[in-house]
Amino acid sequence: MIKSNVIKRKAIRVFFAILPYWQVQKQLMRNIEILEPICRGRKIKMQHLHLTLLFLGDVPTNQIHALRQIAKTISADKFEFKLDTIGYWRHNHIIYIQARNFPTELFSLADSLKIALSKDGFVFDNRAYKPHITLFRKAFQFVNTDLIKPIQWYVDQWFLIQSKPTNNGVEYIPLGHWNLN
Ligand code: ATP
Ligand code: MG
Repeated sequence: MIKSNVIKRKAIRVFFAILPYWQVQKQLMRNIEILEPICRGRKIKMQHLHLTLLFLGDVPTNQIHALRQIAKTISADKFEFKLDTIGYWRHNHIIYIQARNFPTELFSLADSLKIALSKDGFVFDNRAYKPHITLFRKAFQFVNTDLIKPIQWYVDQWFLIQSKPTNNGVEYIPLGHWNLN
């Protein structure tokens, strides 16, 4: 028997995101309930609702400390926005909610993270950042509507999250959080 001497480095799937607090979660869930009979996709569970800032994908566990150290150096301002529009992406069958006007501070935070991590050798695809919160996956019904009651979201911190596969779908595990100024 040949013994492989290749050391398999463990990697975990991670992303940076902002997470809704209880009032925002509740309102998002209310919208999901209203939309469910119309769009019949797979609804996102409350504990999975998030807005991705930057997706990293698989990162070796021995680099997670470096990720946290870099995150610590980011200085960005608090912001708020109104989630007011529901839309559908045909290419990936996702129904999402977004703001017609996301604040510049959100884009600055996402940009700063990308720049700081790139300097440290992390690589990303060059797709434009499209902030959104996924509400349904595998939806095959076009939905495009404005919310009668927009959802106000005040953001004062952001997170590093592990997306861990389990027998019961993914589990999101916060690995760190940082405050905005
Ligand atoms: P599942 O893929 O099992 O349905 P999930 O999509 O919730 O679960 P991940 O695939 O780990 O979990 O994704 C975590 C977050 O990162 C989601 O917001 C997802 O849309 C986003 N994401 C995943 N892959 C990419 C990618 N290649 N580029 C940008 N964002 C991504
Ligand atoms: Mg996914």
